[in-house]
Amino acid sequence: MVSTHPVGVQPSGNQYLPEKRSNTTLSPNQELLPLSARVNRHNCLEIGGCDVTTLVQQFGSPLYILDEETLRTACQQYRDTFKQYYKGESQVLYASKAWNCLAVCAIAASEGLGIDVVSGGELYTALKAGVSPDKIYLHGNNKSREELILAIESGCTIVADNWHELHTLVNIAEERLIASESTLSTQHSVLSTRIMLRLTPGIECHTHEYIRTGHLDSKFGFDPNDLDQVFAFVSKQPSLNCVGLHAHIGSQIFERQPHRDLGVVMVQWLRDAAKYDLELTELNVGGGLGIKYTESDDPPSIEEWSKAICEVVQQACADQNLPLPKLLCEPGRSLIATACVTAYTIGSAKVIPDIRTYVTIDGGMSDNPRPITYQSVYRAVVANKMSDSLTETVTLAGKHCESGDILIKNAQLPKTEPGDILVVMGTGAYNYSMASNYNRLPRPAAVLVANGEANLILQRETYQDIIRQDCLPERLK
Ligand code: PLP
Repeated sequence: MVSTHPVGVQPSGNQYLPEKRSNTTLSPNQELLPLSARVNRHNCLEIGGCDVTTLVQQFGSPLYILDEETLRTACQQYRDTFKQYYKGESQVLYASKAWNCLAVCAIAASEGLGIDVVSGGELYTALKAGVSPDKIYLHGNNKSREELILAIESGCTIVADNWHELHTLVNIAEERLIASESTLSTQHSVLSTRIMLRLTPGIECHTHEYIRTGHLDSKFGFDPNDLDQVFAFVSKQPSLNCVGLHAHIGSQIFERQPHRDLGVVMVQWLRDAAKYDLELTELNVGGGLGIKYTESDDPPSIEEWSKAICEVVQQACADQNLPLPKLLCEPGRSLIATACVTAYTIGSAKVIPDIRTYVTIDGGMSDNPRPITYQSVYRAVVANKMSDSLTETVTLAGKHCESGDILIKNAQLPKTEPGDILVVMGTGAYNYSMASNYNRLPRPAAVLVANGEANLILQRETYQDIIRQDCLPERLK
């Protein structure tokens, strides 16, 4: 369970600290704790120069703590390695479904990234964060008319997923054309809804069934067998400006081969499009690079993954005698997961002799639904006992009214007591964004930490927030 450690050295929470190796830049997705993590002289975990126990006193518990250095480093590594290894134009998009909020979108955009959104809500947030619409791409397998109109009117690119959506887009354009009637400038924008086509590449990869999207039996994207019909249809629509192709094969992937295969398949599709006089200039290979959640996880670095993709697309284009398209990718998890930890306060314990000890925290499946949804495995440390030996094996239980609300089975921790601060690592992706109010728990606050300063980026919900949308009909009062 616990990673290898030097002989004679008792394992402690310190084993998870990023190893500062000389001459090597750490790839955030290969670390367990954020890059700025260290242990101070009080034996407490610090992130971004802030003592985690002090943050909890100041901002309450549970608390999402987002390390700006780690997030920016991941953005820069993606951006710079695509520039380094790809001879054509490139654009990295942040798949904001991993964690969409104003501050995160603003940080990603300030590093030159675009944003991938999958709903009107995510789109609205990205726009409000100041992201340039020409760098926003709207995904989704069942976008509403309202979501499509918001994207069109804002000037974003729409990643069309299915026939129904293509027909709706054409219909919206016709309606807008009629509504605009005489204004030529409006007609121009109406006639150029910028779209990409999402295809299901039929590539299998070894990841959890629910987070695998690229195999043929997937709810997302056009079937590649329909490619000719789709290209023929799109090429005849003056209102659709189809600029490229998109595919995403899944999430938390450690192998590089599936993405290499994807690059080759996508370049073939580009060549096929030429038959229909479609000039497709963009190729988006999706996201999917995995991260280290436990010491046994061994994902490629951001640089290794990016290099593999750039090389394969370049080679495939050379083989097919095609000009290099603008290459896009849209990582989510590997950009943000490691940058965030969740701090909880330990409460009750239940010892069942010869079976197990449950140690309870003040959150659970409402702030991190991944263990109960995907059986995801996490590691934790006790922030105020970082150098203490890991002497206990306990099951960390959430506080929800659900037996399955277990955050970590068989966690190795120092001896804990109520009031200790437990820190679960790698919680930046699909935690806050999937959080709920189950059992009417208010969602936690989130702070951004850097250089010893902590800024609130998400307020803690209150009980007033919990009943904000409730309506009590007069006759029940
Ligand atoms: N793009 C699309 C279309 C996705 O569905 C997802 C995640 O499911 C991503 C990008 C991001 O994937 P990841 O977080 O694994 O990088």
